[in-house]
Amino acid sequence: MTSYPHLLAPITLGSRTLRNRSLMGSMHTGLEETGDWSRVAAFYAARARGGAGLIVTGGMAPNREGGVFPGAAGLFSDKDIANHRRVTDAVHAEGGHIVMQILHAGRYAYSPDCVAPSPVKSPISPFPPKELDEFGIEKQIADIATAAARALEAGYDGVEVMGSEGYFLNQFLVTHTNRRTDGWGGAYAKRMRLPVDVVARTRAAMGPAAILVYRISLIDLIPNGSTWDEVVTLAKAIETAGASVLNTGIGWHEARVPTIATSVPRAAFADLTARLRPEVTIPVITSNRINTPEVAEGLLAQGVADMVSMARPWLADEAFIAKAAAGRAAEIAPCIACNQACLDHTFSGKLTSCLVNPRACHETELTYPQAATAKRIAVVGAGPAGMMTAIVAAGRGHQVTLFDKAPQVGGQLNLAKQVPGKEEFHGLVTWFTSMLAAPGITLRLGHEASPQDLQGFDEVVIATGVTPRDPGIPVEPGARVLSYIDVLQGAETGQRVAVVGAGGIGFDVAETLVHQGTSPTLDTALWRQEWGVTTPWADRGGLAPQGPQPHPPAREVHLLQRKAEKPGRHLGKTTGWIHRASLAMKGVRMQGGVTYDRITAEGLWLSRADEAPQLLPVDAVVLCAGQLPERGLSDQLDRLGIRHHRIGGADVAAELDAKRAIDQAARLAATL
Ligand code: NAP
Ligand code: SF4
Repeated sequence: MTSYPHLLAPITLGSRTLRNRSLMGSMHTGLEETGDWSRVAAFYAARARGGAGLIVTGGMAPNREGGVFPGAAGLFSDKDIANHRRVTDAVHAEGGHIVMQILHAGRYAYSPDCVAPSPVKSPISPFPPKELDEFGIEKQIADIATAAARALEAGYDGVEVMGSEGYFLNQFLVTHTNRRTDGWGGAYAKRMRLPVDVVARTRAAMGPAAILVYRISLIDLIPNGSTWDEVVTLAKAIETAGASVLNTGIGWHEARVPTIATSVPRAAFADLTARLRPEVTIPVITSNRINTPEVAEGLLAQGVADMVSMARPWLADEAFIAKAAAGRAAEIAPCIACNQACLDHTFSGKLTSCLVNPRACHETELTYPQAATAKRIAVVGAGPAGMMTAIVAAGRGHQVTLFDKAPQVGGQLNLAKQVPGKEEFHGLVTWFTSMLAAPGITLRLGHEASPQDLQGFDEVVIATGVTPRDPGIPVEPGARVLSYIDVLQGAETGQRVAVVGAGGIGFDVAETLVHQGTSPTLDTALWRQEWGVTTPWADRGGLAPQGPQPHPPAREVHLLQRKAEKPGRHLGKTTGWIHRASLAMKGVRMQGGVTYDRITAEGLWLSRADEAPQLLPVDAVVLCAGQLPERGLSDQLDRLGIRHHRIGGADVAAELDAKRAIDQAARLAATL
């Protein structure tokens, strides 16, 4: 008997019976834009082989003006059909089903040619959209229907019509973006005409058998967003117009509320899908921050939805369902919702991948073949780099001994998991621990490896990580100076604290210092209150009229840096704003352009520009001034002439993060 009877139960949509109730949500990977469709096919085929019930492709533009950016992938010509056919054939060969998402970006298109119901510029795009006339609207509908017909020609099982997240169709629904007074604006019946017509025409273009998923925005999280009555009215009309299933969309991209970041509680918005479900007769799909089979199973068992959408978890592990079904759920690499290698890459114009799975979107180029000869490999340091090396090398058939002076594995991940809002790191350490139980791996923990220990190995890998940089600020007697390690391990700081260094760790430390009580990430009601989220049946768009109501800060915190720029500018592209907003809400005073003079019992003396140093009266100063490589052992090996590989922070400490460490480790271990 499986542990996931609801998740693994088949479901019929249109004329297709899906193997299970997992939907791989749409993600832009950038693979299509490489022009190498064998990579696109390999990416999706791996997920089909791994058991995805229904795959939704990344958004495909129905026409040039609807593309998210100029040159965005679409399905415009016969040549495109041949490319897409490679993908659908590969997925079907693995027993999977796949639908193509049709994404018209409207005013979110990063292009001067963008179009929208009204010329209202989006706060996240520099381009004011052109208002469509009657003819222009008809062209958009026709183009979407044509794209759907082409999708069937290309072998897709149907399409997903993207109607949420603030894209084109969503833009017609609310007065925030639709100021029209003709037949497409004004009363709600007119504002919803476009999405309903699109679904009806798409259904007509595809015929009755194909799957038509409509992604509906259940909570807009913008001023003047939809009410619940409007959402339900639309859902019913979309069902009547021919949708097979409704997928859940949460929040517009311009919303100032996080919706998928790691600090968002798991399944934080599932109550919305649950409320929609009895209003329609077609199946509904729930989504957002669902990343384990347990959570997915629980939601289905509670009757929240008929299917569960997970997107990024399919980057982290392409065999998500296959492992769950085989009773190997502990081996599922968890998506920690960090966005570091997926969305941050997308928004930097880089190919998507995954922090915990560097093979994601690199399936054809990074492979882990069985080794021709099994080697004895020593790995020193059981942080992310060392653990990943051990797992990949052992998976290839090598015998690995993993050393760490600490009594447990995890390295700096054990610090990260202490930060409120980063609870997902617990799951990541748990996963690494499970994977390190593989037969080819011997753990030598609580043991500082010496050069003698490393004798007799065929390969030696040094992954000893980093040590905190001492910024060299003069410290007078009686001053309380702590490292970030002390603070994350629970050291007392007093009520007024200065944090020196506003990088990723400085922000994490500041968040830890202002926090008190339960982490909102573990309490959805608390989290909603913190970010000012209610429900669309209480408030239009689901935004609390009084705004965010965070818990009062536990102490006064000053976050400092020398660079004369806004602190936090170099944090993750898609998550930096969340960290900045969170600290600002909790009264953290952020200052750039400071020079540190000295630390005394009274506090931190610092100056700005050419001013004389002034006292910032604080009880403790916490140093978060970056890292230096920990190379003691590597240097000893160099002196002894012992050949070794150096990876992770021990290699390059600047800007080190787990993404680079894990990627470098996997690539080395693939070649040993
Ligand atoms: P970091 O991002 O390089 O920041 C170091 C900070 O220390 C900077 O604010 C820098 O600002 C300051 N600094 C550097 N040298 C200094 C000196 N000699 N004296 C005083 N201040 C100095 O490093 P980190 O915060 O240690 O983080 C390490 C890595 O972990 C980061 O690259 C990050 O990617 C990763 N990380 C990521 C996250 C995340 O949320 N994604 C969270 C934690 C860590 P000034 O030079 O302007 O003073
Ligand atoms: Fe999840 Fe982070 Fe991987 Fe993206 S990079 S899929 S958020 S673990």
